[in-house]
Amino acid sequence: MAIQDKFPKITKIASSFAETQLEAILNNPNVYYSQGHFEYPQSQLPDKIGNHLDSLILFEPIAANTEFLNWLVADLQLFIEKEKLDFDTIFAPAQKSVVKFVEILTKRLNVKAAYLDYLPTGWFGNKITEGKISKGDKVLVLNGVSQQGRCVGLRLPELVKMYEGSVVGAAVFASGNGLGVQEACKTYGSKFYRSIECNLNVYNPANCPLCKDKTNELIAWTLVS
Ligand SMILES: [Zn+2]
Repeated sequence: MAIQDKFPKITKIASSFAETQLEAILNNPNVYYSQGHFEYPQSQLPDKIGNHLDSLILFEPIAANTEFLNWLVADLQLFIEKEKLDFDTIFAPAQKSVVKFVEILTKRLNVKAAYLDYLPTGWFGNKITEGKISKGDKVLVLNGVSQQGRCVGLRLPELVKMYEGSVVGAAVFASGNGLGVQEACKTYGSKFYRSIECNLNVYNPANCPLCKDKTNELIAWTLVS
């Protein structure tokens, strides 16, 4: 049975990822929330206001499960070989679950890691907190889940550019399917690894249709993770 029959909003992108494995991951009660009213990133008043999403995928429970993480790493390695992706550095947000993913990869692939400042609310800072990117480095930008495509499409690449490295590809377990993700798909072409894509809506809180239903309580993503 295809993934989409069981999870109507999910499309499998990585052809080599076993459906049974993806199903097991998505069936984990903490990974995928197909319908709801979620705030991501979590607002940090006064200036950081999070978006409202109608679906949510969390990477924390995937990273916490060694088997899930090994399946993901194995499939990403297949992709790297197939696409002949040549890089010496992986650049990712310093989110604990993502760091765990990166650490396995750096060991297996014998590459370096650099991390972008990350707040537990889901916001990114502007500096590299660990490792470095040097002039001429070939970089794979990576994240666990990219709801909007901004991380691997915009924020991580702009810092690579600032340090005069070059981005050779991008990788996430799951992405949304909005404009930012479509832009990233155009930028990276076949060099953009995604296990799955989720059809989710991201709303500006000022005109979020979900907010109109007062019974549809807004839940910060950190409260379900
Ligand atoms: Zn809302």
